Amino acid sequence: QRLGLIRGSLVAELAEVEANVDFSDEELPEENSSLRLERLETATTDLQALLDGFAASRRSREGLRTVFCGRPNVGKSSLINALLGQGRMIVSDEPGTTRDAVEETVDLGGQAFVLTDTAGVRETLSKAEGLAVAAARQRVLEADIAVVVVDGSLPLDGQDRQLLAALGPGGGSIGAAKPAVLVVVNKIDLPDGLSGDEHNYLNLLDFSLISTSALDAGGCHNLAQALPLLARERGPEEGQQIGISRLRHREAIARACDRLRATISLVTHGGGAELVAIELRASVDELASITEPLDNEEVLDRIFGEFCIGK
Ligand code: GDP
Repeated sequence: QRLGLIRGSLVAELAEVEANVDFSDEELPEENSSLRLERLETATTDLQALLDGFAASRRSREGLRTVFCGRPNVGKSSLINALLGQGRMIVSDEPGTTRDAVEETVDLGGQAFVLTDTAGVRETLSKAEGLAVAAARQRVLEADIAVVVVDGSLPLDGQDRQLLAALGPGGGSIGAAKPAVLVVVNKIDLPDGLSGDEHNYLNLLDFSLISTSALDAGGCHNLAQALPLLARERGPEEGQQIGISRLRHREAIARACDRLRATISLVTHGGGAELVAIELRASVDELASITEPLDNEEVLDRIFGEFCIGK
C-alpha cells in the first residue's frame, strides 16, 4: 500500500509531463516546476524511508534471533520443543537463508522467532572449552532475545548467576545493543528448589520473569505469550514494522530512487519534457515491477481525465 501510493503520485506526475509532450498544441494548464519538484522530492523521501527500514523489516520477517541459554539439563531443548508444538512452524521461502542445524523458526502471535539452542556447545566443551564458550557467549550477546533458563527444582549455581550478571547492565564485554532478556524458571512441576533469597534475587533483576514446566503443555503457554510481548516492547523497529523485506524489492526501489533523482535533476536544470518523461516512466516501471504493471492506458486515462484535451 505504501508503494502503491507513491506509484500513484508518480503516475499523476507522468501524465502531466506526457500531456505536455504529446499535446503541446492544446491549451494545458501552465506547468509549475517548483510544485513538481516538491512532489518528486516527497516521493524520493518516501522511497528512501522504505530502503532505510529494509534491515529491520527483513529481520522482523525472518524472525527475531532468540537464543536459549542456561546450564545443561535445565530444560532448554524441552522448552524449544514445547514452543515448536504451540506455534506455527515457518519454512523460509527465500534462498540464501541457510540456518544453523539447531535453529527453528516459529510464528508466535504473528511474530517470527528463530529459536536457537546453545545446547550443542555443551558436547564440544571438553575439546575446546574456551572457544565453545566464547562462541556461545557471542551468539547470546548478538541475539535479539536471550531466554535464560534456570532449573526451579535446584538452587541457583555460579553459572546461573554469571550468565544473568553478564546480560545485566554493566555486564558483558561487548557494548552496543544487548538482547532483551527473559528469565524462565523451569520445572515448576517439581518441588521448589529455590530459596526465598534466590526468588528475591530473580525478582529484583531488571528482566522479565516467568515460570514454566516444559513437560506440561499448559505450563509453556506463558512462554509462548511472553516472547511476542517482549518483541513488542523492543519497539516498532523490532516488532511490527511495515516495510520491504525482500532483496528484489529493495533493488527495484533503489533503482526507482536513482531514476527519480535523475528526473529531479532534469527538472531542476530545465531539461526537456521528453527526457523528464523518460526518466519518470523508468522510475514508475521499477515500482510497477513490485506493485501493478504500468500500461499506457493508465497514463492516457489520466491525461484525458484531467485535462480538457480535444474538447
Ligand atoms: P537442556 O540440556 O537444558 O536442553 O535440557 P533438556 O531439555 O534436555 O532437559 C533435561 C532433562 O530435564 C530432561 O530429562 C527433561 O525431560 C527434563 N525436563 C525438562 N523440562 C522439565 C520440566 O519442566 N519438568 C521436569 N520435571 N523435567 C523437565
